[in-house]
Order: sequence, then C-alpha cells, then structure tokens
Amino acid sequence: MKIGILALQGAFAEHGRMLEKLGIQHFQIRRREDLLQGHDGIIIPGGESTVMAKLLRELRLLGPIKEEIENGMPVFGTCAGLILLASRIRNEEAYGFGTMDIAARRNAYGRQLGSFQAYADFGGGGKIEMTFIRAPYIEEAGTEVEVLAVVDGNIVAARQGNQLVTAFHPELTENLAVHRYFCNMAS
Ligand code: GLN
Repeated sequence: MKIGILALQGAFAEHGRMLEKLGIQHFQIRRREDLLQGHDGIIIPGGESTVMAKLLRELRLLGPIKEEIENGMPVFGTCAGLILLASRIRNEEAYGFGTMDIAARRNAYGRQLGSFQAYADFGGGGKIEMTFIRAPYIEEAGTEVEVLAVVDGNIVAARQGNQLVTAFHPELTENLAVHRYFCNMAS
C-alpha cells in the first residue's frame, strides 16, 4: 500500500511521520506528474485552505485529484483538508474539491479558542487526544455521512464512503488510531 500526501503547504511532513510509524509507504504530491505514481489513498493536510486551493488551481492539481476522489480514491482531509473536501462552507463560496456532503464552518471556535486540546471518542474505538488549531467543525452532514466524533456538540470527524475528514490534527499527537482507520479504508 502507498499513500500520497499533498505537500503544497501546511502540516504534510507530520502525516508522513505517522505513516512511517505504521510501516506504510508514502510520497509527496507536489506536481501533476506525482499523481502518476500508483497510490491507494491521498491525504490532504491542515494548513491554510485558501492558500492550498489557490496552489491546487495554479498547479492544475485540483481537477485530477477531484476526479480521483469521485472515482473512489480513499482520501483523508485534516482541518484545512476538511474544508477543501466540504461541498459547502458557511458564509463563503466553496473553493476546494467539494466532494463531501458536509457544510463546514471555518475558524469555528472563536479567537480565544484558536488552539485547544480535547479528548473524545473516535468512531467507537475509544477516546483519543484531539488537537484543534483554528479549526473548522461540520455544521451539517448529509444522509450518506457517518459521524465519527463529536466535541461540545459539534461534529469534528466524519466519513462518507471513501472520504474521511477530521477537524483536528491527529498527526500532531502520538495516537495512530485515525491514521490506522484511514489505512484500513485504503487497503
Ligand atoms: N483555519 C484554517 C483554514 O481555514 C485551517 C486551520 C488548519 O488547518 N489548522 O483553512
């Protein structure tokens, strides 16, 4: 199994570190040609979703990756990655892949809570540490969407078929549960 990590901006290196701990091969996606490498899944990291969307367009990566997702390629978006996968963004026009039937609210926790930790259940597998950094949450989820984690009444992890999203950053903790979950989706 081999996972491509979108490496235009943001916390991509940390995802590589998690996959290494799981013994999973990975490579960085920086240009269109990188997609020619066979891969079983794609990770869209956290960072700044507006910047990432702009780079995705400039590098002509948005269309090809969107097409892969629509054709069933497993994808895991964290934080900004969640925003890019959402079909709706509260108070804004969606500007990413828009493949997942969710409405995301950006910077949803206010300035004073720009960054915080929480412990909550992930997918019925037990509580894990969740690190939020100017994070979004999911305000609405379509009928095909399975809710995997809720913090303070807000959806912070969900799955729709081949698409997994978390509002938090599992790659910034030592807990491998979410990456392991995604690798199971991709295998
Ligand atoms: N606030 C960022 C955005 O709107 C996301 C933050 C993150 O990925 N840690 O894109």
